[in-house]
Amino acid sequence: MAEHESLEYGKADFVLLDNVSMEEFMANLKLRFEKGRIYSYIGEVVVSVNPYRAMNIYGRDTIEQYKGRELYERPPHLFAIADAAYKAMKRRSKDTCIVISGESGAGKTEASKYIMQYIAAITNPNQRAEVERVKNMLLKSNCVLEAFGNAKTNRNDNSSRFGKYMDINFDFKGDPIGGHINNYLLEKSRVIFQQEGERSFHSFYQLLRGAPDSLLRSLHIQKDPKGYNYIKVGGQIKSCINDSADFKAVADAMKVIGFTGDEIQTVYKIVATILHLGNLTFGVDGDVTLIENSKLVSVIKDLLSTKEENVQKALLYRTVATGRDIIEKQHTEQEASYGRDALAKAMYERLFCWIVGRINDIIEVKNYNANVHGKNTVIGVLDIYGFEIFQNNSFEQFCINYCNEKLQQLFIQLVLKQEQEEYQREGIPWKHIDYFNNQIIVDLVEQQHKGIFSVLDEACMNVGKVTDEVFLQGLNGKLAKHAHYTSRKCPLCINHPSFTCRYSVVGFIDKNKDTLFQDFKRLLYNSSNPVLKGMWPEGKLSITEVTKRPLTAATLFKNSMISLVENLACKEPYYVRCIKPNDVKSPLLFEQERCRHQVEYLGLLENVRVRRAGFAYRQTYPRFLQRYKMISEFTWPNHDLASDKAAVKSLLQVCGFDHDVAYGKTKVFIRTPRTLFCLEEQRAEM
Ligand code: ATP
Ligand code: MG
Repeated sequence: MAEHESLEYGKADFVLLDNVSMEEFMANLKLRFEKGRIYSYIGEVVVSVNPYRAMNIYGRDTIEQYKGRELYERPPHLFAIADAAYKAMKRRSKDTCIVISGESGAGKTEASKYIMQYIAAITNPNQRAEVERVKNMLLKSNCVLEAFGNAKTNRNDNSSRFGKYMDINFDFKGDPIGGHINNYLLEKSRVIFQQEGERSFHSFYQLLRGAPDSLLRSLHIQKDPKGYNYIKVGGQIKSCINDSADFKAVADAMKVIGFTGDEIQTVYKIVATILHLGNLTFGVDGDVTLIENSKLVSVIKDLLSTKEENVQKALLYRTVATGRDIIEKQHTEQEASYGRDALAKAMYERLFCWIVGRINDIIEVKNYNANVHGKNTVIGVLDIYGFEIFQNNSFEQFCINYCNEKLQQLFIQLVLKQEQEEYQREGIPWKHIDYFNNQIIVDLVEQQHKGIFSVLDEACMNVGKVTDEVFLQGLNGKLAKHAHYTSRKCPLCINHPSFTCRYSVVGFIDKNKDTLFQDFKRLLYNSSNPVLKGMWPEGKLSITEVTKRPLTAATLFKNSMISLVENLACKEPYYVRCIKPNDVKSPLLFEQERCRHQVEYLGLLENVRVRRAGFAYRQTYPRFLQRYKMISEFTWPNHDLASDKAAVKSLLQVCGFDHDVAYGKTKVFIRTPRTLFCLEEQRAEM
């Protein structure tokens, strides 16, 4: 018996559980984790538990074991799902996607990297130079994105603070020829503030600890993070991260990908400018607001290649159009600080988006003519933040949890849809299965006019005093009777299917408006550094030309989620559901309650039920015969029946399982796992 079929390691596929109950599910998950079996299946969904230790299961030899195999032939593994997605793409010219979900620290990003490594390893057998180049760039892009988009948090030393979707394009031979990355909602508030025990984005510490002295001198940067207000808290954290080595790796990766020298320099200048901005302080003299440490302004103007008085003015004044007049209104001290922080956050966010855009320019498929080269197919990999339920939840958690509800909706639709379609294709009758449809929660957030995002946008458009309280009142007015909405005084509560999350509305208005004074945009656009200027095209507009209100953060996020889901929905999906076993990064500890909660909100039990309500197992006729033909004398060593289908029928009739199976056009479907066990047992006895 193959290792993965041995009961010592529990059931490799949850569909094979004797009873589908939470107890049995958890017992199996725990047993497998303790035996070092971190991957399991629910049908074709991979369930992964973070091992928190190096596993010797990703090497070349393992890759070879999975290459070209069917899912059930080897123990559950990410490689098997990557291979399945790859095969579907190559053999059937299907666009596929792999959706990886789970909470912070559950292992999504690691999984996405193993999947990419697998795909890189099994493609390009002819070692074509161009394909090797593309593969190298795709792999290297991770390193750059992580430097600028990841940070140490209390939950994960390398937490992705943005959502990422990456398409890999393949030519008709199945070799990678390019790619495209979409990024979602970078947590830019981290640029100016971190919780106790957390750090800002890695890029800041990498610069301080890894850059050569000459570069630091030119940026007027000193090595000690304690000298910088924006990263002071995080700078004192001892961690196992090697910022200095990472700096070099990232610099190298940027070069390999094809960033120019000027571009790389500009990246460093922006990071340095943000650090200096954090140290700028404002004061008042009479009714004049002033910058207390004006030497810094001179440093900043050098880094931004602009004029000192322009920097000063943008920090202290804003231009406003009142009727026909244009006036310069002085900031209060508080407004100036707010503007400075907004500038730092916006510059970093823009830098991040620019990096993604540059990588895309370079890796995008070029010179591909489908008429000549055949269809260009795609595998998409989605690594996006999971549900976040903290002590204090704000606008960011609200957006992230909405994103998860949306993906869950897609999962429900696709898993059911896919099953239904397969039964239809194979000509097998299908009965409907009940499940909780979370569309109601998605609507609660995103519906036009009635949803929470609409109410928020309306509140932001109010002239006069717009406060978070006004927004909450608006919500209470519109949604008081909604089954999944509870309002108390401050927190707004959403009843998600398996938990209730309380969000503090404080800061919603501000974060949604996401204002950056036009004066800053103009300042950066007018820089004589073309790379920096290119990042701020909207700075071109003068105040009188800025008529349209920019889209709010909520609307932008909602739109990006809608298009993400549309994009995923037209691909053949594969899922990886990641579980975090404990909060202390221990390889030994399986915290029962913590894991159970994740199993609940990932809807895994429901997933098993859906899968079992249909047919637990399916296989094409030839493959089925290959595995079981020795059981019957009519099929061993070869059959003389009219077709493989007829042979499978005869085999199952002889064994007495005919009642439990259905015969599709190309596949045999087995309803109960027990039948499969019996077949396996009979096979083992032969
Ligand atoms: P976030 O949402 O915060 O980005 P994540 O789900 O992407 O979290 P990862 O960064 O992938 O989490 O994993 C967190 C840490 O767990 C890794 O840095 C690594 O130490 C460990 N880890 C995850 N998966 C594996 C694995 N397969 N083998 C060994 N260690 C792992
Ligand atoms: Mg991650």
